[in-house]
Amino acid sequence: MRFKVQSAWWLILTTLPSFLFTVSFNDFKIYKDCPRKLSFKVMDFSKKPSEPRPEPSPARSRTLKVASKIGIIGERIQKEIISARELGREVSEEDFKKSMKAVVTKTIAGRGSIEKKHRRRLLRELSDVEYLLKGLPKVYRHYEHPFLRNRYVCSKGIPDFLVRLYDGWYIIEVKNVAPESIGTVFITAKEKMRFYNALLRDRLSDAELRNRLLPKPKAAKIVFPRASEPEEKIQSVSVGFPEFPRIAKDIWNIKCSAFVYRSLPQLTKESEKCRVCKYRRRCRGGEVLDRAKPLPLVYAAAKLDLMERKGAETPLKFKEVIRLFPNEIESWGGPRKIKPIELGLKHVSNEFYPLKREKIVLNAMRRWRL
Ligand code: SF4
Repeated sequence: MRFKVQSAWWLILTTLPSFLFTVSFNDFKIYKDCPRKLSFKVMDFSKKPSEPRPEPSPARSRTLKVASKIGIIGERIQKEIISARELGREVSEEDFKKSMKAVVTKTIAGRGSIEKKHRRRLLRELSDVEYLLKGLPKVYRHYEHPFLRNRYVCSKGIPDFLVRLYDGWYIIEVKNVAPESIGTVFITAKEKMRFYNALLRDRLSDAELRNRLLPKPKAAKIVFPRASEPEEKIQSVSVGFPEFPRIAKDIWNIKCSAFVYRSLPQLTKESEKCRVCKYRRRCRGGEVLDRAKPLPLVYAAAKLDLMERKGAETPLKFKEVIRLFPNEIESWGGPRKIKPIELGLKHVSNEFYPLKREKIVLNAMRRWRL
């Protein structure tokens, strides 16, 4: 029963337009491609979902199934090795093979059977993972899927691991791809790592796991378990995006204007990309956008204000909260626009600006002049 309630809650949260509440790596990527594409994405969220993709052919479907199993198995093996290294144990070749066999058997049994000829490919590809044993440095501590958060611009990210190596804490992202795909995957993975680095370079940022604050990592590393060259196996990314705060603020302006007024940002010139863009027919006009503040912060500020007036013990009603800060709430379309997204807004606002950490909320408010 409890499981059912939790899944229903999870389903509601995952179907909400969460892109209205935070600045994600995906937003950042779309913005860099073209800021107007981000506007169209926000405008389209209320439309009916696009046509389902056609089913892949049986042969393609089998290939995808094997590729997905290889991915899952690689991730599990990686996790086991990181856990073992954390305990200070050196993992012997024999231990590794045993562990690999157990993971393979469990994954194959757990996710439906897999044909013999594909099983051969699977095991052949997996033998590359053994290289990892020789490449990974000693891990002193690790956390899986930490929650990285920038409370100033309301941005978040969830990498694979946060680990302590001999010289400090790092974000680790594992890319279990075949050696020939490493070059292409590295380009996107590097962008993502730079995004995480940039996100954490603010005094209002932190890393957390299940309400427990974790140390802030100083840089990121991408691990390619199946790379055959040792120098390709672990690649470090220590820089961020210096322009991150400015872009994040721009993203908020774009989201707010697209959500409330359906307006597009002004662009100085058309780019080469326009010729093949799916939004080309709708892409007209453009204006200087009003400055918007992150909606979850506006909501938290209003809650804090109301709590001070009514006392900490009194339950706060959504209707009452959004009546405060009328200018800011109006700039987001007023109660009529905000009511349908109430559930997601409450959730993200609590996640970023819990009222028990009043100092953080006040700091963020001060920086946004709220
Ligand atoms: S048509 Fe050009 S300006 Fe408009 S969204 Fe596409 S790429 Fe951007």
